[in-house]
Amino acid sequence: MTERTLTIIKPDGVQRHLAGRIIARFEEKGLQLVAAKLVQITEEMARRHYAAHKDKPFFEPAVKFMSAAPSLVMIWQGEGVINMSRKMIGSTFGFDAVAGTIRGDFGRSERYNLIHGSDSPESAEKEIEMFFAPDEILDYEFSDARWLYVQRGSPKK
Ligand code: ATP
Ligand code: MG
Repeated sequence: MTERTLTIIKPDGVQRHLAGRIIARFEEKGLQLVAAKLVQITEEMARRHYAAHKDKPFFEPAVKFMSAAPSLVMIWQGEGVINMSRKMIGSTFGFDAVAGTIRGDFGRSERYNLIHGSDSPESAEKEIEMFFAPDEILDYEFSDARWLYVQRGSPKK
């Protein structure tokens, strides 16, 4: 099913000049960028974004980190994009994340892990609503879409 996910290149990713290289991985995978903006996330927004973790010891430091400098917030679209992008991002801690994933290749920290990706369709919907108005999300066709995958249910040649 075509899905959308909210992706955030976190302050460390922007500060370390890695935004372009991270975006390239999503482009190379054939995923479609349908919205993007550079955002100075406020502490209040970060608290809302990480509300599920409010009782954890890393909550306040994570809020401070996310609001310390601009983040690049994007929506990527594609079939199965939520799970696929979590796999591309890798597990939470850079020192643990498998090589070949974004966190595994670019970081080795617990907190400074470069990128966020929605973890379920429900969080994707909430997170997209938090950062984007409907008219900021664009609907357009890729000219090479038919070469990216055989659409389910379409005749296989
Ligand atoms: P994200 O939600 O940012 O995509 P995630 O789903 O892999 O990351 P979560 O468990 O949701 O991980 O944690 C949210 C964020 O809080 C992590 O990305 C990381 O920056 C920070 N964090 C999580 N656990 C720790 C920890 N033990 N120590 C320090 N920071 C942590
Ligand atoms: Mg998470």
